[in-house]
Amino acid sequence: MYVRGVGPRVAEMLRAKGIETAEDLLYHLPFRYEDRQNPRSLDELKAGETASVIAEVRGAALLRTRRGPLFEMTLGQGRCVMKCIWFHAAYLEGKFHAGQSVAVYGKVEPSRSSSHFKMIQPQFEILPDESADAETRLLEVGRITPVYESLGGSRLASRWQRKVIFNLLETLRGAAPECLPQAMLERLDLPDRETALREAHFPREGTPFAELQAAATPAHRRLIFEELFFLELGLELKRRRMKERAGIAFATNEKVREAIREVLPFHPTAAQKRALGEIVADMRAPAPMRRLLQGDVGSGKTIVALQAMLVAMENGYQAALMAPTEILATQHFLAARKLLERSSRKPRIVLLTGSLDEDRKRWNRGLINRGEAQLVIGTHALIEEKVEFDRLGLVVVDEQHRFGVLQRFKLMKKPGQAEPDVLVMTATPIPRTLALSLYGDLDLSVLDELPPGRTPIVTRRVTDERADEVWEFVRKQVRLRRQAYVVYPVIEGTKDDQPELDFSRDPENELENAFEDPARAKTKPKSKGESAELFPRARQEANPWAKSGLKSAVEMHEKLRTGPLAGLRVGLLHGRLDADEKEVIMRRFQRGEIDVLVATTVIEVGVDVPNATVMVVEHAERFGLAQLHQLRGRVGRGAAKSFCILMTGARVSPLGEERLNAMVRTQDGFELAELDLALRGPGEFFGTRQAGLPEFRVANLARDRQLLELAKQEAARFATRPEPAVSEAERARVWARLKEAWQRRYGLVEAG
Ligand code: ADP
Ligand code: MG
Repeated sequence: MYVRGVGPRVAEMLRAKGIETAEDLLYHLPFRYEDRQNPRSLDELKAGETASVIAEVRGAALLRTRRGPLFEMTLGQGRCVMKCIWFHAAYLEGKFHAGQSVAVYGKVEPSRSSSHFKMIQPQFEILPDESADAETRLLEVGRITPVYESLGGSRLASRWQRKVIFNLLETLRGAAPECLPQAMLERLDLPDRETALREAHFPREGTPFAELQAAATPAHRRLIFEELFFLELGLELKRRRMKERAGIAFATNEKVREAIREVLPFHPTAAQKRALGEIVADMRAPAPMRRLLQGDVGSGKTIVALQAMLVAMENGYQAALMAPTEILATQHFLAARKLLERSSRKPRIVLLTGSLDEDRKRWNRGLINRGEAQLVIGTHALIEEKVEFDRLGLVVVDEQHRFGVLQRFKLMKKPGQAEPDVLVMTATPIPRTLALSLYGDLDLSVLDELPPGRTPIVTRRVTDERADEVWEFVRKQVRLRRQAYVVYPVIEGTKDDQPELDFSRDPENELENAFEDPARAKTKPKSKGESAELFPRARQEANPWAKSGLKSAVEMHEKLRTGPLAGLRVGLLHGRLDADEKEVIMRRFQRGEIDVLVATTVIEVGVDVPNATVMVVEHAERFGLAQLHQLRGRVGRGAAKSFCILMTGARVSPLGEERLNAMVRTQDGFELAELDLALRGPGEFFGTRQAGLPEFRVANLARDRQLLELAKQEAARFATRPEPAVSEAERARVWARLKEAWQRRYGLVEAG
């Protein structure tokens, strides 16, 4: 379709942003709105609020300061004035002229100078004057104006999008095809598609502003529902299809039960029994299992998986367990070997990781291929090394949020064989409703109970100044024959871009220390979308004045070993060690030959040393909640009382405060997950890209949970029985749309 304003060059830029069709453009909704019907006047502003203001330019100048170019503009309205300041903003020189009308949006800060307020790094838009064309004036002045995330520099910023989208809607008028059945829209009281698009972009006069900002207008609800409905419908279908596929019907009989009893080291919890029951029921069924086993850290997922693997092995099939790291794979391998020593059948277990030498790998691949290995434990290498199993019956994937590769298990069975069952384990405590909706193609089992004999972990926050006390405490625990972890956000040096930190990016950290004036340093940087037409350079460059003062694992290992922890056996573990070294360290720690393990977040996932009772996290303010929770889960795994000490530097951002307080307040992973979701938003929470989860165009899972539920219900209803009120043509359109949407947007989730 030809779109006015989009030539080949622009089309190229748009494609880079994932916008390939006119429809994509239409679903690129404003991320906020400006109420230019009734602009706020300067004298009614209050310090601390975020406001949008329209005023006249009184003066502007580029100042060369010691710390770089600083652009200052004065806005006026009658007798009131306000200053706007941009750092590193030489590019703004010559942009403003006295008398222009400008809309700015930002946080209102008190000002010490003669002006009443100031804004630091506000977004701005120079409003069209009398000489501008009528269309521009129509779209930008005296109305609720949409503000868009830029689709490419200042060229494809808000102003451009307004025009193009407005024209697109005009062209489409009356011709935008509906994709949901009329009866459904009526039942749910949602507007038709065209109306929804029009009103989400160009809200009608009088639309409640708060509803707009919250994406809660009927127009928004309709578009969000639509997106979620097609996600849910696709998941529903996949689940149904999976149930029709040919899998393996494992048998469970007394012989199998005995094989499990032989090796089980303890009484399973009620939750473990229930989960295993659900898993085994799936395994007995002829369709392939696709099940998610969710349980907080320490809830005992491993043993449940091992029992399921025994069922497969007793049936003459091979089982594979895939872990996200070599350390974990090795740990699982050692644990499984120890456990299965008690088995009278002595199954053969092999380890397959990337760091094994080529001969060993080839040898192990051979064992697997000839069916001489019954249990295979490994990392990604299982997939990458093109391992072909003789008779693969069950695949267990540990900590799946680090993967996105379920579909590749198809490649691991021999052609013509039945599909293996798949069990995915995750410690990410996704709220149940969300898990059900998001992994709608997986069935869900939850371990909602910890094994007995655990004492709650005492969590404390302390500032750096009390480090001496902390180290003294660690020494005391070691005297009691306990072990401790001390975790740092970076491996070495002060750069905080180590992969170890990938989950904890808090935009507030980035600009922290940015400016000498502490009041300024607190200025929240703009959220991702807002930077576009503003100060790209200031955000992208590492700030030259930032002095990070970050402690690192390598340095602190040295300092602690020779200082406060002298005389203790202090080990060091981080992601840059090679796999062998890591394994050696980890084993020594497990055997109690290391008292204190200084580490980065490589120990975050799954490492199990019950004798470790202290977890010290330095720079705790820099870690994400999920990460802190995972780290804390490394202790409190035995009967002894355990401690989690969160050390912080002098300055903690408000978001950091919230996270740390939550950690002290509760140990409930689900509660923390809810909060994390609210604080960070779902994209970061789930690590969308890594998990292969869909990215949404309009929906936001943290915000739109209710609509997600609704969409799930409606999808099930639609897939189950044809409603008389829905015509054949309408149904056909839904299916066509589903196919298109699924292929384009959710192609990645293929779990089959
Ligand atoms: P996670 O769910 O985090 O993977 P693990 O499977 O590593 O948890 O189990 C945590 C610890 O609890 C392990 O030391 C394990 O041996 C122990 N454990 C698991 N189930 C039980 C149980 N039913 N009774 C006692 N200890 C258990
Ligand atoms: Mg685990």
